Amino acid sequence: MLSGQLRFPFLDLYSVNARYIDSLHMAASRVIDSGRYIGGEEVEAFNSDLAALCRAPHAVGVSNGLDALRLILEGYKQLGRLHEGDEVIVPANTYIASVLAITHAGLVPVPVDPDISTMNMSAATMKAAISSRTAAIMPVHLYGRVAWNSELAELANEHRLLVVEDAAQAIGAQAMSDGLYGSRMAGALGHAGAFSFYPTKNIGALGDAGAVVTHDTELAEVVNALANYGSDRRYHNIYTGFNCRLDPIQAAMIRAKLPDVTDANNRRAERASVYTSTISHPSVITPCVTPDCVWHQYVIRVKDKRRDEMAEYLHRNGVGTDIHYATPPHMQPCYSNLGHGPLPVTELLASQILSLPVSDCTSTDDAAEIARIINRFK
Ligand SMILES: *Cc1c(COP(=O)(O)O)cnc(C)c1O
Repeated sequence: MLSGQLRFPFLDLYSVNARYIDSLHMAASRVIDSGRYIGGEEVEAFNSDLAALCRAPHAVGVSNGLDALRLILEGYKQLGRLHEGDEVIVPANTYIASVLAITHAGLVPVPVDPDISTMNMSAATMKAAISSRTAAIMPVHLYGRVAWNSELAELANEHRLLVVEDAAQAIGAQAMSDGLYGSRMAGALGHAGAFSFYPTKNIGALGDAGAVVTHDTELAEVVNALANYGSDRRYHNIYTGFNCRLDPIQAAMIRAKLPDVTDANNRRAERASVYTSTISHPSVITPCVTPDCVWHQYVIRVKDKRRDEMAEYLHRNGVGTDIHYATPPHMQPCYSNLGHGPLPVTELLASQILSLPVSDCTSTDDAAEIARIINRFK
């Protein structure tokens, strides 16, 4: 669904970044003039800004969100906490990167159906999937809603499972109950969390970027080393590592936007609340409203097998939409051999979901108009 000439584009990254333009130019100049283009102060400052935001002791900027997840899993393998073939429970209705990280690390993803109303993994779905080989769970805070509650925490503790959060869509979100180490911030609820600063995320870089946040000092050290060829000091390699560093130029871009994260998330919430109070079409289910959501996406469900018709109707009426995600990972050709049980909720959702524009290029008036257009769908 192209959003080029639409009256209400789904997302226009230039206009999203326009409000930060002066800070971005200043930050870029700072890096250009510094002569330091790998690592250094800019990346260290980014790490401490992010750790402070998440109320966690460590943050490590890395190349992107997928690498952040993979480095956490590889790091726990180096620390002997995960072993080849261990099972990791993951929601089936996630972006494929969650699952790729698990299989890249030689672990076995166990996809589970989400709760249909939150569209997130719940304690119930997780509990049903625990086996003697389960070593970790990967809650994904899908669409910006935190997948965390005290039952989930208790289950993880009881079964001694590592909790690796995919917080790519949930920067700045706060859980409604404490994480394992007390922080309620998404990404700092479990043992380690992965962020993505892909340009479309709530806080996006101007290219690829990601980060690992953790309460585990040993893991932070291993991730740091793994991301830098496995070297703990110059020309001394303790692991067969990777090159997954965060560029200082991207660290600077994110730092220019990060102080605005709460306001940016609040602006998303205002648009979401306009949608929720205005949409009243009998074929449409609006997403549940919980205080732990930062509305990375505003995802409606269109019943009666009319989702594609609705998307085309909206496009004809100047509204850009998207689908996150039309094909779940277990139905992708690359995972045709992935073992899994029946996933009826995931497959139903994939056929019903439709994301409406919710970024800074959509005003609350735009959202009201989009909602009225939806209500007129025949
Ligand atoms: C964006 C995203 C990722 C991957 O992040 P990249 O920076 O694009 O590699 C992983 N998981 C989820 C849920 C995402 O939305």
